[in-house]
Amino acid sequence: MKIVIVGGVAGGASAAARARRLAEEAEIVMVERGSDPSFANCGMPYYIGGTIEDRSKLLVTSVERLENRYRLDVRVRQSVESIDREAMTVTIKNLSTGERYEESYDKLLLAPGAAPIRPPLPGIDSPRVYTLRNLDDADRIHAAAEKASHAVIIGGGFIGIEMAENLLHRGLNTTLVELGNQILGPWDAEMVVPLAELLTERGLQLRLGAAAEAFAPTRDGISVKLTSGDTLSADFVVLAIGVKPETSLATAAGLVVGERGGIRVNCHMQTNDANIYAVGDAVEVTDFVSGKPVQIPLAGPANRQGRIAADHMFGRDSQYRGTQGTSIIGAFGKIAAMTGLSEKMCQRLGIGCEKIYLHPAHHAGYYPGAEQMSLKLLFDPTSGKLLGGQAIGGLGVDKRIDVLAIALQAGMTVFDLEEAELAYAPQFGSAKDPINMAGFIAAGVVRVDHPIVHSHQLDAVAGRVTLIDVRTPSEFSEGTIDGAVNIPLDELRGRLDELSKQQPVVAFCKVGQRGYMATRLLRQHGFAASNLSGGYTTWRQIQSAR
Ligand code: FAD
Repeated sequence: MKIVIVGGVAGGASAAARARRLAEEAEIVMVERGSDPSFANCGMPYYIGGTIEDRSKLLVTSVERLENRYRLDVRVRQSVESIDREAMTVTIKNLSTGERYEESYDKLLLAPGAAPIRPPLPGIDSPRVYTLRNLDDADRIHAAAEKASHAVIIGGGFIGIEMAENLLHRGLNTTLVELGNQILGPWDAEMVVPLAELLTERGLQLRLGAAAEAFAPTRDGISVKLTSGDTLSADFVVLAIGVKPETSLATAAGLVVGERGGIRVNCHMQTNDANIYAVGDAVEVTDFVSGKPVQIPLAGPANRQGRIAADHMFGRDSQYRGTQGTSIIGAFGKIAAMTGLSEKMCQRLGIGCEKIYLHPAHHAGYYPGAEQMSLKLLFDPTSGKLLGGQAIGGLGVDKRIDVLAIALQAGMTVFDLEEAELAYAPQFGSAKDPINMAGFIAAGVVRVDHPIVHSHQLDAVAGRVTLIDVRTPSEFSEGTIDGAVNIPLDELRGRLDELSKQQPVVAFCKVGQRGYMATRLLRQHGFAASNLSGGYTTWRQIQSAR
């Protein structure tokens, strides 16, 4: 069996290594257009920022190692230019010599990744406008950053935010321009407010709802004209507005590209030609939760898909389950992570969902160093089946989203989260872990033990409900929701006569816990009470996200 692999980084290199472990006799040719196979693209922003000082650390492995350990035929600085499906050959161009030659295959794997989007804006071809995809790009930005004082980043996605943190870390005056009204588009807006606020505190000039429309050279830099009419000046620009699957080889060979623009594959990662597989950022996959086609460029899926394709080439029935979009990003110690569908995605797809918010500490509050996180859980309102989760905070955010990711993949419900048995000692978690708490709250909502109201619904019911702030008078005096009256939880039993049973009551506290207790108390006394999910903390995040 002879396998030719196009692209030698995440998906391609994983497939090559797996293929060798399965088939000692196979001939495996891995063709990579760049100079380095299997480099750590995810580490590049941190090399630019100086956290990773030694560039060689980004070279996860070397051509020699791949040849010696895996007996791969690695051809760097060579590009696959076309596929002849009938002859089962590819044409390869050696980028060093310009020579072209043909290579036959029994199985072909396409792992060419995705290219940064560069819209045809005036001046975009300026040498001061960079994109970040490979080590050559990283070197160029690294060199530019060393002698720069001002940078503009276009795009507030993963790469834009990571670059913002790293350029600020280097001491550059940094502006980030984002077309949307929030950073990190896959998250729900309120969940990334704390990260946007922290970046701003650290000096990032964040321009939300703004778009670049032209670039022009200045005497010693570049100017960025925004659609608002404002002009920004910088030494260089990093363009990070998304990536586009590399599908030109596939389309020229008549392989089917799906509605999201990626190469269409089946669960074995086979294209419409059974001898050609495709993996990674170049393919369109099925969203694990919604079942819809999606294009989610992440390293984990690319690596797993590479393994699955290699398995299938050698007769194993490995199948890709779909992509959940489990992702994480951190800047200056603030961490945002998510898995599954967001609320806005549920709305877009017409999937009925309920949500709850909570703000637990990452470990027992009495043990020093507890950090608060915000969790949002999305679930089916009737069955309680999990649809997605998002978290923002510090320590422990990664662990909770990873637990939710597995729960989601296992098809679990909020009732299963109530029963989750997780590792606990005071410095690591709580006897009732944030995951259990999310389960208790969400299960209580599904069982209608404690109805909830959401912050965005308050405007619609204003004047028709009694809004009670059950925090202490001192908390109340520092700020509350318009129209709220203060009845601290500990006084509530003695002040029930101040409330009317003719009007629904919405209780809230700082994070939702005292509001929950108030709701239970009031309901047992015959009031139509509900709790404001996530309390004043979520309400403020939602106000800030508007
Ligand atoms: P790639 O890893 O991009 O590899 C494709 C390779 O194919 C390229 O090296 C390209 O040169 C080569 N190629 C293309 N066409 C040809 C051709 N015709 N002939 C020969 N070679 C060809 N994901 C995460 O999950 N977490 C992160 O923290 C994260 N951080 C990232 C940070 C940055 C700056 C970038 C750029 C990406 C990051 N990603 C992250 C995304 C992740 O790196 C990709 O999802 C993953 O690498 C995709 O794997 P792939 O094999 O599809 O493509």
